[in-house]
Amino acid sequence: MDIHEYQAKELLAGFGVPVPRGGVAYTTEQAAFRAEELGGSRWVVKAQIHSGARGKAGGIRVCANEHQVRAAAADLLGRRLVTHQTGPAGRVVQRLYVEEAVTIARELYVGLVLDRRAERVCVVAAPEGGIEIEEIAQRAPETILREVVEPAVGMQPFQAREIAFGLGLRGGEVNQAVKAILGAYQAFRDLDATMVEMNPLAVTADGHVLALDAKMTFDDNALFRRPAVAELRDYAEEDPRDAEAAKYGLNYVALDGSIGCIVNGAGLAMATMDMIKHAGGEPANFLDIGGGASPERVAVAFGLVLSDPRVRVVLVNIFAGINRCDWVAQGIVQAAREVHVSVPIVARLAGTNVEEGRRIIAESGLDITMGDTLADAAMKAVIALGDGGTGGSRLAREVA
Ligand code: GDP
Ligand code: MN
Repeated sequence: MDIHEYQAKELLAGFGVPVPRGGVAYTTEQAAFRAEELGGSRWVVKAQIHSGARGKAGGIRVCANEHQVRAAAADLLGRRLVTHQTGPAGRVVQRLYVEEAVTIARELYVGLVLDRRAERVCVVAAPEGGIEIEEIAQRAPETILREVVEPAVGMQPFQAREIAFGLGLRGGEVNQAVKAILGAYQAFRDLDATMVEMNPLAVTADGHVLALDAKMTFDDNALFRRPAVAELRDYAEEDPRDAEAAKYGLNYVALDGSIGCIVNGAGLAMATMDMIKHAGGEPANFLDIGGGASPERVAVAFGLVLSDPRVRVVLVNIFAGINRCDWVAQGIVQAAREVHVSVPIVARLAGTNVEEGRRIIAESGLDITMGDTLADAAMKAVIALGDGGTGGSRLAREVA
């Protein structure tokens, strides 16, 4: 889960990371109020969307008077910002963050990531910040500094100092940077983050070190024990289908094809995708109902999969262990009665209570094609598309 810049700064500040003073605003009026409340003579009005590179897209405005703050806020609110991270659809700005502006002497990059290969938290830093790490990695990979944190002892102050010196900081700047880096690490650890980025970590003209921009990503599987973090979720920033699925404990993955897939488990999802492709089709999406799905959840899953207009066939592939085929079958039948299903359904059920599941479907009177094996079901799904699938499988055409 991602959060907004202003939320990340508030969390980081709680761990001693120095950040500029600022306030969130949802309207032009509030933005002007924030500027007045902060005082000073220069402010930055920043679009809050879950994306970096907002500056390049016109989402960061430095203002020198109240009139400019109002104009920037009015212009940004409701505007669709397109960055290379948002994709062409962009994101609509619904919140702003108004900060006291600072005079920047240097922009540094500091990020903490979970290095899956090292199985450690890793601090990555570079002396030329303000641009994305991918760009730094291309332009000047030799300038990137790394420190791996030993989990048993946590990040040590000497490691943060090494980074600060490596970034070319001197004198009083070093201790401030150390405080920022150690604070960011503490936040990462204590809040179950998977990424914390301060880009830029700025050195100001008057010798202060501040996180001018902050980004945090959290481990979805740990949110249950971080209610204060979970509350920061902004559903407006997410694919509505993802959000709807998450509400019911389902995992939704959007793809580009025409066969909607309801499966249980990530491994089975991969196998299903392979078999669909092998039969000459392309999956439109995957909905993983997980273990122990009730008929109600299966019905919700159906609604979600069908809400994708590209779906022309639904393939249900359940290997029931903890799940029960009879419940899945009941869910399919319930969904078919509640939601108007205008596309063919192919189902393959295996495992717990499979006989009962098949009986429920057979007796429902619904037009559902059963597959005996996954290969059989995938082939029948492609045949049901009526065009032999995008891949034009010979196998599917021969059988048809
Ligand atoms: P991003 O483009 O989404 O990464 O947004 P940032 O918050 O990183 O802002 C982009 C750039 O705007 C920074 O790299 C700075 O150069 C500039 N910027 C942000 N805040 C200030 C500020 O207070 N004063 C000045 N002069 N520039 C700022
Ligand atoms: Mn930035």
